[in-house]
Amino acid sequence: MKSIRFRTQLMLSFWLVVILALCIPAYYMYQTLEKDIYKEANANAFTQLNFIHWQLQEKSVFENNQDLDQWCKKVGRQLDYRITVIAAGGRVIADSDVAYDRIAALDNHAGREEIINARKSGQASNIRYSITLGRKLIYAAKNINLANAPSGVLRIAIPLSTVESRLEYFSRQFWGILLVIFIFSTLLSLFLARRLEKPILDIILAATAIGEGDYEKKLDIETGVEFSQLSAGINDMSGKIQQNIQQIIEQKQELEAVLEGMVEGVMLLDKHGKIKATNEALTWIAKCVPSCVGRRPMEVFLNPEIQQACNQVLEGTDAIKLKVAMDNETVYEVNLVNIPEGGAVVVFHDISELVRLEKIRQDFVANVSHELRTPLTSIKGYAETLQDKEFRTSDQSETFVKTIVKNADQMSNIVNDLLELTKLQQRKKNRLSAIDASACFSSACETCMPMSNEKKISIDNRLAESVSVMGDTNSLIQVFTNLLDNAIAHSPTDTTITVSAKTGPEAVTFSVADEGSGISQQHQGRIFERFYRVDKERSRDSGGTGLGLSICKNAVTGMGGKIWVKSPPDGLSNGSAFYFTLNKAVDYIS
Ligand code: ADP
Repeated sequence: MKSIRFRTQLMLSFWLVVILALCIPAYYMYQTLEKDIYKEANANAFTQLNFIHWQLQEKSVFENNQDLDQWCKKVGRQLDYRITVIAAGGRVIADSDVAYDRIAALDNHAGREEIINARKSGQASNIRYSITLGRKLIYAAKNINLANAPSGVLRIAIPLSTVESRLEYFSRQFWGILLVIFIFSTLLSLFLARRLEKPILDIILAATAIGEGDYEKKLDIETGVEFSQLSAGINDMSGKIQQNIQQIIEQKQELEAVLEGMVEGVMLLDKHGKIKATNEALTWIAKCVPSCVGRRPMEVFLNPEIQQACNQVLEGTDAIKLKVAMDNETVYEVNLVNIPEGGAVVVFHDISELVRLEKIRQDFVANVSHELRTPLTSIKGYAETLQDKEFRTSDQSETFVKTIVKNADQMSNIVNDLLELTKLQQRKKNRLSAIDASACFSSACETCMPMSNEKKISIDNRLAESVSVMGDTNSLIQVFTNLLDNAIAHSPTDTTITVSAKTGPEAVTFSVADEGSGISQQHQGRIFERFYRVDKERSRDSGGTGLGLSICKNAVTGMGGKIWVKSPPDGLSNGSAFYFTLNKAVDYIS
């Protein structure tokens, strides 16, 4: 039925209704009519039979069978019937329609149905096709026992052509009416189909357009209340779908914006464990080219831990949290949450910085404890010895007290340096201002003068009278002091420390170069770390804390610059040069 056109279906339905509505009653009518016509013909045949019987009775005696036959032929011609007289044994003795000389050759009629029945019940009739005359006839037969004729059966045969022509006329009329109704119903069904097809086609077009996202298409059907209600319903539905789709699009866009704005990597897994969607951050984390979608977490992250957690969550575990190191530097906290409808959400949160800070904190605490423990143990040991009164009066006691003071100074230096470091780390960049680096250096020089004088080390100041940079005065003095302090400490007597500055387009690069022992390559990368010393014992003896360069680095980076070392400096065979940059002061640039 799907492939049949609506128009054809309607037409076929019409036809079916017409056939059922017309043919069934027509068939019964035809049957009834036929029965009535035959009944009437039958009655008429008997009337005629009785009339001929009466005529026969009225006739004077027949001389012989031929005379009887003559009479039959005469009456038969008048009435246009076939009149037959059959002897008791069934032999035909007279027949109006058969020549007398051929009568003897006729079949024995004893077996004819009307003859048998007439013999039994006096009179009978039968309708059948006469082979002799080649047409359908109604036969009416009656027993005769007359004085003037031989006894037997009188039979008349009336052609049924009148009856049949009446039935034929009825049939013709019926088929004619049926044809007219057929034509009319076909035309009507076509007309109705056209009228119904148009709105249906309009609805189909509108529904297809809605399916393709064209919600502006409006239906305006006026054919019938139902269609106008349907079109109003479709228009209403299209409006609501448009509203809902718009809402969904907006929500999707909002969600996408949130996901894309997140620094955390987010991926959505389908129920089969394949990646369904990711945000930009995740694509970056997983370094997926061109996309992670459709792949398994194992293929993307090459990490069995993540794959296993994904499997567990997909199998029904509500949520899992794990820490995963992707490479040496990056550590992620991965949160996996099961979606009850199937699938999972996986969020990657970069905690590398937290892990790094935690490590620094642990190292720092360990370093500080270690650095303080040595002088503290020493102080404790000497102080305990000095508790002895007798020892206090001995010559050695003074050396012990000096050692205690020296260790206490060491501890004090460490604490001061740590406080300085903390201060530098807390100082904010926006507190920077245009300062004169030459003035800062002069101040640092004054502080270091006693030490340099003691070692007969000359300081060659090649800085311009005023070097204006963006910075913090105290921090810059601290940097120069520490660098000079180190340079003096690691230079032999009668050497020179050269301080210079080179102005670039945006920054000024300062250098503090000495002619000292220098720093071997292996240590150069680490000397800016806290508590890192090249020679621990020597440094401690000379009051070094291992924090000086760390303070310099913090101070310089805090002022927006960089610090590095070259040992030996370019073109020299010994000594070391410390360089650091600071941004030019704004007024200096202009
Ligand atoms: P310290 O307080 O021990 O000097 P620093 O952080 O200032 O600690 O220095 C770290 C290490 O770098 C020192 O132990 C020292 O070995 C080395 N160092 C620093 N400056 C120089 C320099 N000018 N010449 C040679 N070695 C240096």
